[in-house]
Parts: sequence; C-alpha cells; structure tokens
Amino acid sequence: TAITELKRHQQQLEHIAHYDLLTGLPNRVLLGDRMKRAMTLADRHGQRLAIAYLDLDGFKAINDRHGHHAGDQFLVDMSRRLTLALREPDTLARLGGDEFVAILSDVQDDDACFAVIERLLATATDSVALEQGPVRISASIGLTFYPQPDPVDSDQLIRQADHAMYEAKQTGRNRFHAFDPERDRNIRGQHENLAHIRKALSCNEFVLHYQPKVNMRTGQILGVEALIRWQHPQRGLLPPAAFLSLVQDHPLGIELGNWVIASALDQLDRWRAEGLNLPVSVNVDAQQLQQAEFTEHLFATLAQHPGVRPGELQMEVLETSALEDLLRVSRVIDACREFGVTFALDDFGTGYSSLTYLKRLPVTLLKIDRSFVHDMLDSPDDRAILEAVIRLASAFRRQILAEGVETLQQGELLIQMGCELAQGYAIAHPMPAEALGEWVASWQPDPSWRRPPESCKVHEPH
Ligand code: C2E
Ligand code: CA
Ligand code: CA
Repeated sequence: TAITELKRHQQQLEHIAHYDLLTGLPNRVLLGDRMKRAMTLADRHGQRLAIAYLDLDGFKAINDRHGHHAGDQFLVDMSRRLTLALREPDTLARLGGDEFVAILSDVQDDDACFAVIERLLATATDSVALEQGPVRISASIGLTFYPQPDPVDSDQLIRQADHAMYEAKQTGRNRFHAFDPERDRNIRGQHENLAHIRKALSCNEFVLHYQPKVNMRTGQILGVEALIRWQHPQRGLLPPAAFLSLVQDHPLGIELGNWVIASALDQLDRWRAEGLNLPVSVNVDAQQLQQAEFTEHLFATLAQHPGVRPGELQMEVLETSALEDLLRVSRVIDACREFGVTFALDDFGTGYSSLTYLKRLPVTLLKIDRSFVHDMLDSPDDRAILEAVIRLASAFRRQILAEGVETLQQGELLIQMGCELAQGYAIAHPMPAEALGEWVASWQPDPSWRRPPESCKVHEPH
C-alpha cells in the first residue's frame, strides 16, 4: 500500500541520515548520538570510555593506483574487519574518507583498552584482496578517555582523539598515541600565561627594583643590582619567581631580557641627570646569553645610551649556566669587555666550577650564593666553603661579594674572612628607583663593620 511504501521510504531516509552508504557503518551524526549516550551511561555507572580516532596510512595511494572502485572495495572490506576486531558493545563509525572513530565502552583498565587498540592496528595491516591483487597498508590511531579532570563534550573528545592521531602519524604511523589532558591543560595554561606576559610588556607593567651592593667595611656604595618585578593590576607586586619560569625557553624570555637591559640603561641616564652615578648590574639567563645576537643587541642598546660609561654596566650570569657552554660564554664575555661591560658569576658555589673553568671564564666578580651566607654562623661546612671560595677569588684576582647578608654578625664574620663586598637585607632591600637617591644619601655601615681588621676580636660563632 501507499502507507507501507511511505514508511519504507522514511526508514530509508533515516538510514541515510545515520549510516554511511558505502560501508553501512554509523556516520558522524549517529556517532555523536552514540557518544552522548555512552557518556551518560559511563557517568551513571562510573565507567570509563575510550574514543579511538583511526586514520588509514597510505589509503590515497590505493585510490590513485587502482581507481576509486578498488578504493571503495577496500574500505568496505576494512570496515568489516575493523568491526570484527572490536568487542560486542563497541561502536565503529566512519567519518568519511579513510577516517573512523571507535567508541570503546566500559574500559576498566588501560591494558584491556590497549589490547583492543593493538588488535585494530594489526587488523589494519592485514592484506586485503582486491580484484587487482592483494594490498596492505596500516593505520594510525589517536586515543582519548572519558571522563577527564575537566568537563568535556563529545565534540571535544573527537578533537582530542584527532590530535592524538596526528601525533601518531607524526611519530611514524602504524601506531597509536594517547591524548594527555594534563599536558593539554598545561599547554593551554601556558598559552594564556604567555599572552598575559606579552600584554604586561606592552602595558609597561614590569618594573625594576634596585638593591645596593656595598663595601661593608669602608661604606663605599659599589652599585645596584636590577631585579625585575611585575606590577600586576590585580595581584600586586610579583617577584620574579612568580613569572620568569613561564617565559623560560620561549622567545618572549629574550624579549623580556632585552627590556630589562634597556630599562636599566634608561634608569642610569635618569640617575646621572640627578647627579647620581652608580653602576648597575642586570641578570641575564642562559637562553638570552646563548642566543646568537646577544652581543649585537647589547651593543645596539648601548649605542642608544651614549652617556653610559665603561664599567657602569655589569651582567650577572648564573654559574650553572656559564658552565653549560663555557667556550661560548667566555667569548661573549671577551666581546663585551671591549665595550666596557663586565660580568659577574651569580650564585657562585652552586655550580661546582673547577679551578680550570674559573681560569677560563673572564668574569670580574664572583657572587657567593646566599645559601652559604645564610648558614655560615651555624655550619662549619658552609664556613669552610666560604673560606675556600674567598681564597679562590683572591688567587684568581677576582672580586668577591657575599649575597644575602641579613645580619650584622654575618657581615662582621665575612669581613674577618676577607670578604668585604656584600648585598643583603642587612644593608638594603631591593627598592624602587625613586627611593635610591635618599638611601644613598643616608646609608652608613654599622659601626661593628667599620672596625679596622687588626682591632677586631676574633670571636668564634656559637
Ligand atoms: P639573584 O640574582 O640571586 O638575586 C638576589 C635575590 O635575593 C633577589 O630576589 C633579592 O631580592 C634576594 N635578596 C637580596 N638580599 C637578600 C637577603 O638578605 N636575604 C634573602 N633571603 N634574599 C635576599 P628576587 O628579586 O626575588 O630575584 C630572584 C631571582 O630572580 C634572582 O636571584 C635572579 O636570579 C632572578 N632575576 C631577578 N631579576 C631578573 C631579571 O631581570 N632577569 C633575569 N633573567 N633574572 C632575574
Ligand atoms: Ca643576581
Ligand atoms: Ca644570586
């Protein structure tokens, strides 16, 4: 009858809307429905799903070589085999072309799931008999799981599996790769962080604070170290530990480093105009120092600040990073010395530099890491290291400065040991540029530091 005819027609239409004509597998629309259902069931029963995105490797060549009819025949055969490789409740859908998605429901453990995936991979490499003869190819599979730490929808899951599949292709095909939500979140978070830092740079939210370096005994002010801060509109003044690691190994780190040097030189110009003549040192990290254009860039920046005199700019390089590429770093130091820019080895004592290394690194100043100073009064070991480092510096005719001097006793003992240069809270905290003039005008070393060496009692620390 006409009614049954109509019903049949409607069924046909529904079938067309939900199934792939060529292979009879569920299509993208039905896949979406099935995924939503599987996710709901998984939520309800506390189960885990895996979504596998499968893409054949080298399918195009079959089409090209044997024609579309052969290609279609191949896909039909492959679909049937892949379906057989799955377990009963699982769904295999065809997205189009040579791309398939499998929903693996209720995968309790990774091993069971990986076994199914391996079976799919093996099946894909089975040879398929075409009229023109047997052909064999392989497949690459991307895998993702549900649920995840963050909420996800079915489209996102397919995208994740697609990404993972792409990784599998990249790393050599005929394999699977699992999507890592944790890593993805980190990468997304990192993009966000980098965008924030880029914006902060363009909005001038970074500032330099300056910490004086002095001779504790004579009271001479040697200069200041520039230390970066982020004046965050919501979070307030952030220390470098809160943001520098985000730009590590990223070109933005070099941009930020260049900003630091240029700003410190700008500040030198301003202080000079106010009658304040103080050398400034800036911290450069390994990435910045090891980039090919470091010296060119530095000289260009110096050229924009013709008022800066030789010796007014010093670079502080971590001992550990200087040792990483000794030859390169010593060449950079040599090149910079011709322009009157000197170098300090920062956090000295933490990098295990041997005597030979030290001899080959033409640095002017060694900055003893503050951990040794911190414990010097209690730890004979740290005191022994301090003594050795101080003697080392004098043997190599390098200046030596103690970082992190927080108490008068530490200063006093350091002076006795022959280290008169220092930096630390006992002298001054890092301060905004505007505060420095007043500090310079009023600072006096403590009388206990002023005692001439011969008159000071050698008292043992307790
Ligand atoms: P650093 O070069 O060893 O700088 C000295 C750090 O010790 C500074 O921390 C300073 O505020 C802190 N300090 C100074 N005196 C004392 C003291 O008496 N006691 C204690 N406990 N700490 C003291 P800050 O400013 O948080 O900087 C941390 C590190 O971040 C610096 O260590 C440096 O390695 C890096 N840094 C700072 N500014 C820059 C920059 O512009 N570029 C690069 N690449 N690194 C920077
Ligand atoms: Ca430093
Ligand atoms: Ca340091």
